[in-house]
Amino acid sequence: AKARGRNGYQFYAPSMTGEGVERLRLEAMLRRSIDKNEIFLNFQPQVEIDTGRLVGVEALVRWNSPELGVVPPIRFIPLAEDIGFISQLGKWVLQEACRQMMAWEAQGLAVPKIAVNLSVKQFERGSIATMVADVLKETGLDPHRLQLEVTESVIMNTGDALAFINDLHAIGVGLAIDDFGTGYSSLAYLKQMPVQTLKIDRSFIKDISTDINDEAITIAIIQLGKSLNLSVIAEGVETEEQADFLLRHGCNLAQGYYYSKPVMPEILFEAWNAKALT
Ligand code: C2E
Ligand code: CA
Ligand code: CA
Ligand code: CA
Repeated sequence: AKARGRNGYQFYAPSMTGEGVERLRLEAMLRRSIDKNEIFLNFQPQVEIDTGRLVGVEALVRWNSPELGVVPPIRFIPLAEDIGFISQLGKWVLQEACRQMMAWEAQGLAVPKIAVNLSVKQFERGSIATMVADVLKETGLDPHRLQLEVTESVIMNTGDALAFINDLHAIGVGLAIDDFGTGYSSLAYLKQMPVQTLKIDRSFIKDISTDINDEAITIAIIQLGKSLNLSVIAEGVETEEQADFLLRHGCNLAQGYYYSKPVMPEILFEAWNAKALT
């Protein structure tokens, strides 16, 4: 395998002349992935630190390609965006996530909320709020149980981001700013937007307790959230020490390997209960 700078979705480049061909092949495989049932979701718990209560799950997309194995999203989301496949993929993810929520409910397993990631490209075409409203109607999921995650860069780089976000807010879904602290959200923007949640980026959590700058940034984000009356969740929590730090500084929500890796829906509660009992 040859590492490629550009978008990171090239798996291998057998030869210079083969590269274009390889990419076309990959594109063709990706375009067929939904119809061939190769796309699926993993789910990762979001937890209240002090009680261990499950407050939600985040849906994370995977591609199980017969040729390539399980491909992580960073390898195919940029390609899906490039080839105009992201709207279709994004809609499938949302449908599947909502369906799964209803399926858990039918089994008596209560997952309070589901978080679903949106790509910037999904904001560029047509009304995203209409798509989301359609999926909610078709699956029967209560809009208040859906939280859409958009990164800071989406918000800052999309001309009509505010309008789109207002439309989504109007249909009752929650909004979270993902990877918070890595982009350039102006605080003025934050104040204008109907978002409910900030997700502290994993890169800050990673070095808590060794890097005083990361600690300071984390504390600042928690304080900012408090001041603006937003809920704050930390992502990438891998250790008890990190969870304790967050709790001590007033952040009571976390997601990360310390609680559970993203898992298949059938074993979410197994993985979860096993952890909750330890
Ligand atoms: P993200 O939204 O920031 O998702 C969190 C990523 O961190 C996930 O990687 C998750 O598996 C990983 N993670 C969670 N806890 C830990 C931890 O404790 N330690 C470490 N090292 N990693 C942790 P994943 O599933 O590979 O997803 C990567 C990115 O791909 C996501 O980052 C998101 O930007 C994108 N993505 C995933 N699913 C979708 C989707 O359905 N639509 C769109 N547009 N993007 C998606
Ligand atoms: Ca996310
Ligand atoms: Ca994130
Ligand atoms: Ca991220």
